[in-house]
Amino acid sequence: MIEASKLTEEFGSLVFNDKVMRERLPKDIYKAVHKTIEKGTHLELEVANCVAATMKEWAVENGATHFTHWFQPMTGLTAEKHDSFISPTDDGRVIMEFSGKELVKGEPDASSFPSGGLRATFEARGYTAWDPSSPAFIKDGSLYIPTAFCSYGGEALDKKTPLLRSMEALSNEAVKLLHLLGYEDVNRVNTTIGSEQEYFLIDKEYYKKRKDLLFTGRTLIGAPATKGQEMEDHYFGVIKPKVSAYMHDLDEELWKLGIPAKTKHNEVAPSQHELAPVFETANIAVDHNQLTMEVMKKVADKHNYACLLHEKPFEGINGSGKHNNWSVCTDTGMNLLDPGKNPGENTPFLVFLMAVIAAVDEYAPILRLSVASAGNDHRLGGNEAPPAIISIFVGDELAEVLKAVEEGSAYQSAGKVQMAMGATVLPHFTKDNTDRNRTSPFAFTGNKFEFRMPGSSVSVANANIVLNTAVAEEVAKLYEKLAPFKGEELKAKIAEVLKETLVAHKRVLFNGNGYTDEWVEEAAKRGLPNLKSLPDAMPYWISDESIELFTKHGIFTKEEIHSRYEILLENYSKSVHIESLTMQEMVRKDLTEGIVAYEKDLGKEAMQKKSLLGDKAATLEISLLKKLDDASFEMSKALEKLAEDTTIAEEKTDALDTAAFYQSTVLADMDELRKYADQAEALIPDKYLSYPTYGQMLFSLR
Ligand code: ADP
Ligand code: MG
Repeated sequence: MIEASKLTEEFGSLVFNDKVMRERLPKDIYKAVHKTIEKGTHLELEVANCVAATMKEWAVENGATHFTHWFQPMTGLTAEKHDSFISPTDDGRVIMEFSGKELVKGEPDASSFPSGGLRATFEARGYTAWDPSSPAFIKDGSLYIPTAFCSYGGEALDKKTPLLRSMEALSNEAVKLLHLLGYEDVNRVNTTIGSEQEYFLIDKEYYKKRKDLLFTGRTLIGAPATKGQEMEDHYFGVIKPKVSAYMHDLDEELWKLGIPAKTKHNEVAPSQHELAPVFETANIAVDHNQLTMEVMKKVADKHNYACLLHEKPFEGINGSGKHNNWSVCTDTGMNLLDPGKNPGENTPFLVFLMAVIAAVDEYAPILRLSVASAGNDHRLGGNEAPPAIISIFVGDELAEVLKAVEEGSAYQSAGKVQMAMGATVLPHFTKDNTDRNRTSPFAFTGNKFEFRMPGSSVSVANANIVLNTAVAEEVAKLYEKLAPFKGEELKAKIAEVLKETLVAHKRVLFNGNGYTDEWVEEAAKRGLPNLKSLPDAMPYWISDESIELFTKHGIFTKEEIHSRYEILLENYSKSVHIESLTMQEMVRKDLTEGIVAYEKDLGKEAMQKKSLLGDKAATLEISLLKKLDDASFEMSKALEKLAEDTTIAEEKTDALDTAAFYQSTVLADMDELRKYADQAEALIPDKYLSYPTYGQMLFSLR
């Protein structure tokens, strides 16, 4: 356990961070690496050799025997292949070696990773390339080197490469515009992300007994417990002692890896929790979020829990998301989304705010797609998570500022309002200018935007790739319009362009309750897309508009876009396919076993009673038997239908057609089957079931 007084020393103790580099690398080498990290310049082999040797020395001192290039292929998980540092010598001993070449480049067999047709199977070769901007770290006795992953032909096969490209694109466009606005000292603009991670903890023993959780991450059958989340007593509730021990251990593991875990609390649903880190540069934040998810599972196992990261593990109970807090900050320390004291006069703020508004409106379908997955589709649109319609909440103060922009009037800040709580012992503090709106998918929260649609299990890379690129494009458009002007003329033009952009895109602004039916109607009137599922949204990914956007900014080639289209659709269909098979098996074997055993006992009991007490006896048993029989009759019909439709799906070939069929037919069949399965399960005492019920799983944490 880390002592509180040692925390600052222990933080990042397993990370080859700037401090370690400064202490251990020769000055000129340290400077060269820094230049690469800051400016993206090429790293000479000589420098790489020196860094590798130092890294190895440090890693071995800290207990590592192996190294691995760590990357994020399109599977959604991370991948690693470990090599040891040992190298045999002539006299039969070994020495520990690690060269610059091994640090900079790896050659994993790429043939088992999804490529969406980018790589012919005979071209199995793929490359991993060191990302020096995300620090290496030690985990489980290996030195982990964050890398990008591409094919033999140089096409990106991962999530990091396009993310880095999008950060650069946004930086380039932003710097141009800032120079025009007079901020000539800005050289670079950084995307920052803080991703809040939601998760469920359940007893490991329960987890192991449920095939649906084991194979698909979510429960596919299960009658609701008599208590759900209606009392809302779990939110911010006292953290139970065992859970608290888990969270403590988790924090420590994360801190050692240099991950700034900051906030922890219970969420709305029973057994659901959240962890929020302090924000970091986008690509490091994404790496750290991937690591956080891994460590969460590992530490859970140690504490006899299973950590569920699926977007919708339990029906009828809130699902889990990953709020993506996003901002842009200059290398001179200016947060471009910070309104400051007088937002009405803050030109960089207004210009970037307008670029975000335009980007979100213009590219809403692609933004929606960036968070689409089989799992997240169950969450979006339920009255617990943002709707599938994308809108922006700006809050009262900004709404006033925007009104002034549109009317060309001067905005007078009301200033901070003092909060009076009516008891003199309580401290006085100022009130925030915006209240929270939890129903908005894209909310301004003081000095950043919070994109609330990402699901809990996915990498946030996708969402940020789209966000960065779309904003880069709008910033570029604003620049084009403003570039010919100078001085007073420029000032007047800025006001005009801001107004024009606002008028064109204000339909996306919505401060009301996003969960209501009225909003769905209103949004349709405004022409805002409502893309309910991944197959609905997918065609937008390969639209001309999307290809134009991504190719213009060098984020994806047309081929890379198409490959991602294939991969996403295939992943979707595979996920639903596995769910269907798992559900069929659970119903056919596990649930049926319970039904049969209980029916047998009920039948025996009824017969006995009748023979003892006559025909009128055993009414309860017979009525239960009848209900159970009715439910299982419907259940068996629905089971057959699901099996038949799944076979039809298996035979389909076109990727979009297949995914659409899984969505419209197979998932609907599963809903129908679940209805009767749950009716049956609700009648059966727990002891007849070989798997744990909702009540047991959700209310057993101590
Ligand atoms: P809430 O629960 O209200 O959404 P939290 O405090 O749990 O708020 O989370 C806010 C998140 O936003 C944290 O991860 C925080 O580090 C992050 N954040 C704060 N400022 C920025 C910024 N400039 N850029 C990106 N993320 C930020
Ligand atoms: Mg949040």
